[in-house]
Amino acid sequence: MSNAIFAELAQLEALIAQLGDRARTDVVSRVQYKNRSFPIYSIVLGSLRDDVPALAFVGGVHGLEKIGSEVILSYLQTIIHLLDWDEEFAGRLERSRLVFIPIVNPIGVYRGTRSNGNGVDLMRNAPIEGKGNTKLYSGHRVSPRLPWYRGDTAQMETEAQALCQVIRKYVFNSPLSIALDLHSGFGIHDRLWFPYASCKKPFPGIAEAHALKQSFDRCYPNHIYKIEPMSQEYIINGDLWDYLYDSFMQTADAQHRQFLPLTLEMGSWLWLRKSPLHLFQRHGFFHPLLPHRQQRILRRHITLFDFLYRSLLYPKKWAQLDAMQLKQHNQQALALWYA
Ligand SMILES: [Zn+2]
Repeated sequence: MSNAIFAELAQLEALIAQLGDRARTDVVSRVQYKNRSFPIYSIVLGSLRDDVPALAFVGGVHGLEKIGSEVILSYLQTIIHLLDWDEEFAGRLERSRLVFIPIVNPIGVYRGTRSNGNGVDLMRNAPIEGKGNTKLYSGHRVSPRLPWYRGDTAQMETEAQALCQVIRKYVFNSPLSIALDLHSGFGIHDRLWFPYASCKKPFPGIAEAHALKQSFDRCYPNHIYKIEPMSQEYIINGDLWDYLYDSFMQTADAQHRQFLPLTLEMGSWLWLRKSPLHLFQRHGFFHPLLPHRQQRILRRHITLFDFLYRSLLYPKKWAQLDAMQLKQHNQQALALWYA
């Protein structure tokens, strides 16, 4: 363990200590900033077998949006307490796995910056080009002094590689998996995005994404999420999830496996509009500064997490569609999102 340098890392290391041998914890990589070494941790709970579903939680890709890390750490704390007594939850873990990378970009979280220590926006760093109307915020190679800098073409940043490594190792080998990457951004809605981010064309899993949305809408008709392909909002270059999804589709077994990457973008106007003065503070835009508002965000997404987990364990209604259902969901998805 390192001597934790900021609060979220200290919290993560305390959780790792509490988990002990109930989890498989790795320091996937280390990144250096001003003579300090920052670990990038992954935590895996449950079965390591190849034939079980996997659910991954990713946070802190953009350091400034540290609320994503905090939501995951809070969920991990809940799980640790459940493991003490909830036999049903322990049973679930015997036939599934949960994968956590709570702080992908520790230097960014430490400094309160979107980018990593090299000034690179990790979610613009993959070797994948946006198609269509791209803007500066879509990712550029002008200068690391400007936000949304994509970094070098030759190789991805250490943090981006660490994320890909964990997803390939613990998620790609599963027959059915979901990765949920937590961010916060402008806007009044909490958005749940599926691929693609780099182009307007429908991604191969739209029927399943639509079926999952329909199931969620029916179970929780008053839910708070706007569910859509990310390209509905904007097109970006270098999206890591597009990159991972495409590389998953090229794996030998892709026909027999399903992987759905989701991005949760928590709308920061939800906390900003009540305290506009936060506009003037560094974290204000992307982080709720008042404790009660932060607590509200920490508990706001538990229903979604549990729904996704149960959907992976019981996938019949969305991930095991017959030919007729596939066709119907495809048509409905096209009409809803791509008309
Ligand atoms: Zn973000």
